[in-house]
Amino acid sequence: MNKTSLIIGAGYSGLAAASVLAHEGWHVTVVEKNSQCGGRAQVHRDQGFLFDMGPSWYLMPPAFEHLFSRLNENPQDHYDLVRLNPSYRIFNQQGPVDIVPDLEQNAEIFNRLEQNGYQKVLRYLERAEEQYNTSVESFLYRDYESVFDLLSPGFLIKGLKLGLFRSAGQLAKKDFENDLIRKIMGYTMVFIGGSPDNTPGMYSLMSYIDLRQNVWYPMGGMNKPASAMEKLARNSGAEFLYNTPAEEILVDSGKAVGVRTPSGEIRADVVISNADYHHTETDLLKPEQRSYPEKYWKKRTVAPSAFIIYMGLDKKLDQLLHHNLYFHGNWSEHFETIFDQPRWPDKFSYYVCCPSRTDPSVAPEGQENLFFLVPVAAGLNDTDQIRQSFYTKVVDHFEQLIGETIKPHIITQRIFTHRDFIDSYHSWKGSAFNLAHTLFQTAVFRPSHSSKKVKNLYFTGQYTHPGVGIPMTLISAEVLADRIQKEHG
Ligand SMILES: Cc1cc2nc3c(=O)[nH]c(=O)nc-3n(C[C@H](O)[C@H](O)[C@H](O)COP(=O)(O)OP(=O)(O)OC[C@H]3O[C@@H](n4cnc5c(N)ncnc54)[C@H](O)[C@@H]3O)c2cc1C
Repeated sequence: MNKTSLIIGAGYSGLAAASVLAHEGWHVTVVEKNSQCGGRAQVHRDQGFLFDMGPSWYLMPPAFEHLFSRLNENPQDHYDLVRLNPSYRIFNQQGPVDIVPDLEQNAEIFNRLEQNGYQKVLRYLERAEEQYNTSVESFLYRDYESVFDLLSPGFLIKGLKLGLFRSAGQLAKKDFENDLIRKIMGYTMVFIGGSPDNTPGMYSLMSYIDLRQNVWYPMGGMNKPASAMEKLARNSGAEFLYNTPAEEILVDSGKAVGVRTPSGEIRADVVISNADYHHTETDLLKPEQRSYPEKYWKKRTVAPSAFIIYMGLDKKLDQLLHHNLYFHGNWSEHFETIFDQPRWPDKFSYYVCCPSRTDPSVAPEGQENLFFLVPVAAGLNDTDQIRQSFYTKVVDHFEQLIGETIKPHIITQRIFTHRDFIDSYHSWKGSAFNLAHTLFQTAVFRPSHSSKKVKNLYFTGQYTHPGVGIPMTLISAEVLADRIQKEHG
């Protein structure tokens, strides 16, 4: 008889684990508290608009291909992927700058910003490519069980060479004098829940992903790949139970044997939590069954939350591209409000996604779909009054930035921040990304893929190795599936 697995959560990582295990012969049941798949990549529909609620950058296509090929499938057969051109627009003090996928076509911009800027960018990206290749070959697609896995001389030499022991910000400062180029090389650290100063230099591989692999978009929105994975899992026999929160992980003689839900108990040979790690440990397990005590969590560097506005406008905004970034002149002050002295920022950088520039299906004709995101510290006080005043700051600034009013043109809008992250995903401290990628929250230092206290209880998703971002959560699921096959297959 097939072995059975119960997965808590239909986020990207839960879906990837479900599709791989079902494909490899397991009977899989997924319980999800919300009514749709995708986790943080779920969608909000209103007035003919379709808003992606979380991720909007489809990066690192090879990670999607890797997963799909394991299922004998190809992503392009399931969704229409387009390379964005330009990749994104940066608004800064000197006016807008567009970055395009063909790097050479950006040469003029980099040379204008800094003498020999383009040559320096090429050299920087050579190292980023090496960091990327080394990571994919040696670090990402493997599990870490003990710190000794990291202590081989080979690892340390590679780590030193690739900048594991310096920050991404230090590498960019060493290589560039121009502030905007440094920011272009550093902004992607926010994608993985950190800042250029607290993220190891090895993660400047993100610049290779951004500038060499480029920025993609699945037509129909970021939930499309998630829905494709759900379908593939179902085709292999997986069952999905929506609006079904796990309320307790059932443990018998030290082994996980299933979960309790409002509609009853579901038994399985292994239980995999894709739900928030902190929530799983503290709300679904008894104190003696937890691998990590509260004092462990207190010492973690928590990744940012996000202040998000989903907004539908009754007019087009031609000044915008699909992806738009505003970098504040003094962005270290903003990072300080996130990581050092948590508070709502007065001056901030932000991101505006306008997918209706690419995809007519996400807004009614002649209208614009906007998504504003300001990274803010996790765990902040989030009252209606604070939301409203921060909302006004963001929208006022944006109107000034583009020199056009938008307020009279708003047809629909919704704010989503700390309280919503907690209500929607049980997210610890209302964080968007949960754990930053500091050196001591990388690889073996991330929470483990398996419980140290309860046998047959496993974890997948952005808390675990390799970490934050959809591609990483797909890899997390693959690494875990290999481990489960090894231990139970
Ligand atoms: C605003 C935002 C923007 C982002 N932008 C990008 C981007 O552009 N590109 C990118 O690659 N990544 C981006 N990310 C990161 C990326 O979205 C995440 O890393 C990834 O989606 C996390 O997937 P996951 O499966 O680990 O967890 P989740 O998506 O959190 O999935 C966990 C699931 O578990 C469910 N759950 C929780 N508790 C229970 C319970 N008790 N019972 C049942 N179900 C439960 C939740 O409802 C959820 O569906 C962004 C994230 C956010 C929030």
